[in-house]
Amino acid sequence: METPLTPLEFARRARKLYGYREAVVDGSLRLTYEQFFERCDRWSAALQAMGVRKGDRVAYIAPNTHEQLESFYAVPQTGAVLVPINFRLTADDFVYITSHSGAKVLCVHPDYLEVVDGVRGRLTGVEHFISLGSAGGRKGWKEYDPLLAKSGPRFDRPDIAENDLLALNYTSGTTARPKGVMITHRNAWMNVMDTLVHFHITVDDTYLWTLPMFHANGWTFVWIITAAGGRHICLPKVEPARVFDLVRSEHVGWLCAAPTVLISLANAPASARGDVPKGVQVITAGAPPAAATIERLEGEFGWNVTQVYGLTETSPFLTICEPRPEHAKLSPTERGVVKAKTGVEMIGAGEMRVVDSEGKEVPMDGEHMGEIVFRGNVILQGYYRDPEATEKVMAGGWFHTGDAAVVHPDGYVEIRDRIKDVIISGGENISSIEVEGVLLRHPAVQEAAIVGLPHEKWGEAPFAFVVLKSGATATEKELIDYTRERLAHFKAPHGVSFVNELPKTATGKIQKFVLRKGAAAIVRQ
Ligand code: AMP
Repeated sequence: METPLTPLEFARRARKLYGYREAVVDGSLRLTYEQFFERCDRWSAALQAMGVRKGDRVAYIAPNTHEQLESFYAVPQTGAVLVPINFRLTADDFVYITSHSGAKVLCVHPDYLEVVDGVRGRLTGVEHFISLGSAGGRKGWKEYDPLLAKSGPRFDRPDIAENDLLALNYTSGTTARPKGVMITHRNAWMNVMDTLVHFHITVDDTYLWTLPMFHANGWTFVWIITAAGGRHICLPKVEPARVFDLVRSEHVGWLCAAPTVLISLANAPASARGDVPKGVQVITAGAPPAAATIERLEGEFGWNVTQVYGLTETSPFLTICEPRPEHAKLSPTERGVVKAKTGVEMIGAGEMRVVDSEGKEVPMDGEHMGEIVFRGNVILQGYYRDPEATEKVMAGGWFHTGDAAVVHPDGYVEIRDRIKDVIISGGENISSIEVEGVLLRHPAVQEAAIVGLPHEKWGEAPFAFVVLKSGATATEKELIDYTRERLAHFKAPHGVSFVNELPKTATGKIQKFVLRKGAAAIVRQ
């Protein structure tokens, strides 16, 4: 006997077992699992009444609210495909993604109605515009809650096969057009189960939504927490004071966040922090976390940080920096260094290799860099309407991540850069992540980014952008000397530019192409 692998199964079970338990907190609203799923059913019925059928696409532009969380059940249980759009993208991107996905219905948080109205003339394929709150009298919008109230909870549940599409998750598209990553029900189910194997989340646990739900389906925590019967605490905007407040008042035990969010928590002023409860389990990914950040969260807050790694294309988790008993004996500084490694294959993700340009595995010496390639059950079905890009990324039967890494003698992999960001200076590879990690240990440095710039003699040379901690000072020479004392001299930055903030994507990645342009202009001056 086989039942299709789909996260909707977790919803069925949670409703039966945990219906009376609190499921979702969003501001002053509190919903039990029964109330939450009833709302999802009503929205499924409303979508079907609008003509949404199996395979149709329904797009969302929304921060982390309960309406956004509802979309991860209400849309797929009708057999339709969810398209959660990054709300920090431009109006042009909204048009591109909505049109490319062929979405029939576009659901928009009130904060983004104006932007969408500005490009409405170009959204010709959209049949229904839904405001996920008051539309404030704007024309052409139907409001979500009145539609739910009018709709009954009955809808037609189509058969769903595990390889049916669940979501189209568009990549951030820093230089090229965003690509639609096709994630199936089976992909998502695998990621949920695999995460639950490594992280023991229980019915007694509370999860804070510091990670955007649109980012790879909230790393599938939209379903993981429900599968466990835990509580979702929605958080539309990440402000350190609010995070610490909720950790205290809702007894938060778990959160996921990109390293940049962790840096902002670690550096929050005492007035924003208050008493920080110990024991919060933090899962971080999206960019490499620095050892210094991990050390501070563990040493000062008594939190436990675990790094995972993956891509939107891989549902998303591939590796975990698995804690081992021998790590417990290390000093916080040594442990920070171990925990900053990317890690090992997750149990259910599949097989990882780090290969050179000929496809040969690099030696396990912590020195030779290669590309991480992967095959297994979490790999995307393909890029939507883009067979060429799909073929390219799957060349030779392996998914090519574009991440450059070394393998240590203990088998732990460590990402050194995106392949395109590796700096080659005088024939030597320089890992920007390694140099950034050293700068982040300087007491005055809050954030750092290294980019490669053309150099007459060396081909390329590293250049640093640094954000100083509030009230702290440091000179360019001091930071260059600091790096030279700790790394081979050719890795030290040739120049440092002090900035108020680093340009980042909504998913916490530093936009190095923006910095490269800025650095080139500074050097030319
Ligand atoms: P996205 O698809 O937006 O999640 O981006 C995936 C990319 O983020 C990967 O290819 C990596 O370059 C980067 N990334 C994700 N997790 C990590 C990690 N733990 N360490 C280093 N880079 C990471």
